[in-house]
Formats: sequence, structure tokens, C-alpha cells
Amino acid sequence: MKDLLVDLKSGDRIKVKVGDVVIGGTEKVFISGPCSIEDYETMRKIGKELKNIGVHILRGGAFKPRTSPYDFQGLKDDGLKIVKAISEEFNMPFVTEIMDTRDVEKAIEYIDMIQIGSRNMYNYSLLKEVGKTDKPILLKRGMSATLAEWLYAAEYIMAEGNMNVVLCERGIRTFESYTRNTLDLNSVAVIKDKYRLPVIVDPSHGTGLRELVPKMSIASIATGADGLIIESHISPDNSVSDARQTVSIDTVKDIMDKALLLERLV
Ligand code: PEP
Ligand code: MN
Repeated sequence: MKDLLVDLKSGDRIKVKVGDVVIGGTEKVFISGPCSIEDYETMRKIGKELKNIGVHILRGGAFKPRTSPYDFQGLKDDGLKIVKAISEEFNMPFVTEIMDTRDVEKAIEYIDMIQIGSRNMYNYSLLKEVGKTDKPILLKRGMSATLAEWLYAAEYIMAEGNMNVVLCERGIRTFESYTRNTLDLNSVAVIKDKYRLPVIVDPSHGTGLRELVPKMSIASIATGADGLIIESHISPDNSVSDARQTVSIDTVKDIMDKALLLERLV
């Protein structure tokens, strides 16, 4: 079989269109929103504020892969309906995680980009299933995946015909326990240098600590990332999941302002 890895190394850079937003083009793309979709009103308020500050794509989980089975698992199908209504109202594309092959067909009616979460990067059935669609895919790095394993996961999707893959560095598990994960910006530098897939960074899961999110966002842009995905909320401390790493909308605005200034320098 043709080795796509070679193709990923040579030729034009791959640009992925999500609605009207292009990831991997000349402009940095900012994705933000809560960890979980909690209810319609909260998601709407967050979406409205993020639209006002110029965020391009909304995020929010409907199906949540929680470490404990007793924690909030997401609004599931009701979450997808909320997503659809809000993304239409604000004319903003929406990315959400799909965890189960059985949900793919239904989900593509509601969302603009499918997130494959870190825990599912090795789920080859799911990778193949989303590869059969033409939806843009946000492929998060497995928390223990090498760069090669991560790229092969991208190839699983692309080998099925879907070339709309965006990689997302979200930190890996190391011996360091101060931060939730260790954000591996080396990977971003290598991908930008050697491969033609777009790559964005998730400094929220990459650090687990909201006070580190602005600094690691700027570092990511300096490393050449094509964009950022940041967990934000109108009331970060009250987030139902991942509150400790969730920032305010004002912080997202501040990060975007700094990132755009920095972009002109690097
Ligand atoms: C998320 O984006 O909310 C999430 C669960 O991310 P990850 O798969 O990177 O842990
Ligand atoms: Mn989260």
C-alpha cells in the first residue's frame, strides 16, 4: 500500500477548511469554548462572548471521556442539538469530540469538525470510520503516543480518503506531576519543519493549570502552531469539567491580541 507518510513530507501544505475558516493557511486560528456543553443558556452566553472577541471556531464536549465513570458524561445527543442551534445563530463552526463509531453518522449532521480525543487516538475503528466522511478531523495526540504513532493515526484517517486532518498537540504523560501533562512543543516544531499537515496546540489540557495557559499559548505560536484550542467559560470556576484549566473570555482575548502581535515577529 502507498505510504502516505512520504506524501505528508513533500508537496504543498495541507489546508483544512472548517466552514469558512482555513486551518494551516496564513492566519492563526483560535478555537475556544467550555470543556463540556453544560446547558443551552451557558453555551449560548459563552458563544456570544467568544464571537464578539473574534474567536473563529467554538468548542464544547457533548460526549465526555471522563476518568471516572461517575463523573458527568456529557449531554450526548441533546448536546449536539445545542451545538447546532448556537453555531447557526452566531455563524461559527463547532468542533466536538465523537467517541463511538455508532455516533459518527448522526454527528456529522450537527457539527463542522470532529474531534478525536487523546484517549481514542489508538481507536483504529473510529479513525477509519471518520476517514470515510469528508468532515474536517481534529486529531489529538494520544497521551502516550510518539510522533510516529500520531502521524500513523492521521494516515489511518487519510488512507480512507479524508485528507482534512488537523493535528493537535495536547501534552503527553511524563514523570512530571506538577502539571497535568507535559506540553511537547518539540512535536510542533518537527511537524512544521518536516510534514505538511496543519498542527494546533491545546495549552489547557497541556498544562491543566489556567495560570499557565497564556504563556504556553504564546510559546505555541512562537513555535509555529497554526492555531490554538483553549478551554474558556463565562464563569471558569463553575465549569462542570476541567475548571482548574479553564480561563475567562477576557483571558482568551488577551492571548489572541498577544499571539497576533507575536505572529508578526516570528
Ligand atoms: C477535551 O478536549 O475536552 C478533551 C477531553 O481532550 P483530550 O482528549 O486531549 O484529553
Ligand atoms: Mn477538557
